[in-house]
Amino acid sequence: MSEDRILTVLNVDDYPAALYATSRVLRQAGYRVLEATTGAEALARAGECPDLIILDVNLPDVDGFEVARRIKADPETATIPVLQMSAAYPDPEHRALGLEGGADAYLAQPVEPRELLATIRALLRVREAESVVRQSEERLRVLASATADVVWTTDAEGRVSGDLPGWRDLTGQTAEELQGWGWLDAVHPDDRARTAKTWQEAVREQGTYHTDYRLRMRDGGYRTFTARGVPVLEGGGEIREWVGLCMDVEDRRRAEDRQRFLSDAGAVLAESLEAERMPARLAEIAVPLLADAFSLELDPFADGERMVASAPEGGAPPVLSAELEERLAAGETVALGPRELPGVRSYVAAPLVARGEMLGTVRIATGPSGRTLGAADAEAVDELARRVALAVDNARLYTAALDASETKSEFLATMSHELRTPMNAILGYADLLDAEVAGPLTDAQREQLGRIGASARHLLQLIDEILTFSRIEAGREQVSLERFDLAELARDTAAMLEPMASGKDLRFPVDTSADPLWVLSDPGKVRQILLNLLSNAVKFTDAGEVRLAVRAEGDEAVLRVADTGIGIAPEQQGRIFDAFWQVEQSSIRRAGGTGLGLSVTLHLVDMLSGTVEVSSTPGEGSTFTVRIPLEAASSGVAQIS
Ligand code: ADP
Repeated sequence: MSEDRILTVLNVDDYPAALYATSRVLRQAGYRVLEATTGAEALARAGECPDLIILDVNLPDVDGFEVARRIKADPETATIPVLQMSAAYPDPEHRALGLEGGADAYLAQPVEPRELLATIRALLRVREAESVVRQSEERLRVLASATADVVWTTDAEGRVSGDLPGWRDLTGQTAEELQGWGWLDAVHPDDRARTAKTWQEAVREQGTYHTDYRLRMRDGGYRTFTARGVPVLEGGGEIREWVGLCMDVEDRRRAEDRQRFLSDAGAVLAESLEAERMPARLAEIAVPLLADAFSLELDPFADGERMVASAPEGGAPPVLSAELEERLAAGETVALGPRELPGVRSYVAAPLVARGEMLGTVRIATGPSGRTLGAADAEAVDELARRVALAVDNARLYTAALDASETKSEFLATMSHELRTPMNAILGYADLLDAEVAGPLTDAQREQLGRIGASARHLLQLIDEILTFSRIEAGREQVSLERFDLAELARDTAAMLEPMASGKDLRFPVDTSADPLWVLSDPGKVRQILLNLLSNAVKFTDAGEVRLAVRAEGDEAVLRVADTGIGIAPEQQGRIFDAFWQVEQSSIRRAGGTGLGLSVTLHLVDMLSGTVEVSSTPGEGSTFTVRIPLEAASSGVAQIS
């Protein structure tokens, strides 16, 4: 009761002295007073909605019992408390009559002012409490009807025993049909037993009830609802009734299913570059997530050889009329309902188009489940079609790229081979000339011949590098394992670079144990690796030293080439192993080379199941460290293909 509002009391009495006396008591107690002296006047003023009415029984026109009845019968005034007072009818029988007629209290005149005021206050308190309950009920009712499609109640045993208008609107069942357990007839036959069981269990255990089921709509289609219910308890803890809600969750559920389907489909597409299994796997996940029937027809290589997958097996969506098939082939998505295509509930077909080329179609349909496909489903099919087309197109491009790369490697291998033969001839004839087989040479001729030989050898080395590189790329490089002394091989290899190092006045220490270091590996490849690293070190070092160290660490052989050369900037260190990559661009290069040496090195190390790493400081030098297993497990050796 709000304390600061002035409350209004309607005082009805035809006897002026009594009217005056009562009104005076009321005014003194702080009430605003309206007055009436006849029944008709009382009814008229009751329309002004006073907070309470004091009603004399004895009125000149309509008697007070009748006035009270009418006030209580009119919804506008029904909640106003009525205090009936009478001097003429003080006995219990009249009191009963008054209360039964609708009065909230009955006092016999004369009344002590204190008793009158106390009674008024008590009545107002009751009215306030009632109004709080009414408001909260109203709030709940509005809330329930806003959140739920159906608000339902059942008796304590779980039987519907009243009308459920929301349910009737949705399902088209009549009030009689849904009584007792009749409502279950509107639940999808496949969900019925489970729903009944869940409900029976809830009723038996007096716990909350929560389940999802498909409900048959007026139009015969089904939608998914979630139902919840709770028991309402009596004061004594007995169940009085059950109340609950049903909410249509079909759209949310379908959106989740579509999302799940698209992400599962994405995973399938990502992993099946080989197209054979892909259509069948998509069909498997499409039913029942997306629809009741699915088919994917695909011409992965655009050579007219179609792959078709459908689910359920053999139960694919029907083929369309010639005219619709034509529209589909022209790149249009086709969506149909039962009127256009008898026998199915709904149907969506979308073309698979990649870079303007028609690769096939994807189709879905519903029927048995009673689901109706909407715009969002058509979009999902479109999206799937786009992704499938893209994946197939990518697979085609990938195959084409593999072919092209193979052709390039073939070309390089042939070219290098063709270049070697004449280059060997040049070297051979230069040697013959040098041996003066064809007659004596002058000093100038001999010097020039020396330059021809050096350049030819350099060129041959480059050709060899390219040859190795293309053999590796083409997957023709093979590992052949042998047991050999790595220390000795390292010393031999270093000796080959010794003239180049001393030509630049570099110290060239080689740390190896005098004892043999036996390894099982591919000596040709190890030699090539060392040659590449050592010749780089000498090439990029102008002063100081190049140091080679070889030793065993645990079950690995460690080969370390350290120089005091120009070093490699940190941002370049990740790229130097790329094929054809050189830190200095060719126009300003001090040292010759192809940019293949380290790429070949990395591949060879890989083939030997080893690792290579670089650490370097510009201006101070570089260290390359290669680790290979002491004992290459023949099966563990990578065969690069
Ligand atoms: P290249 O035929 O140019 O030597 P590589 O693949 O062997 O090709 O090396 C790539 C690049 O890495 C070289 O051009 C050079 O810039 C850099 N590089 C390699 N080794 C060293 C080194 N020891 N010191 C400095 N730079 C190096």
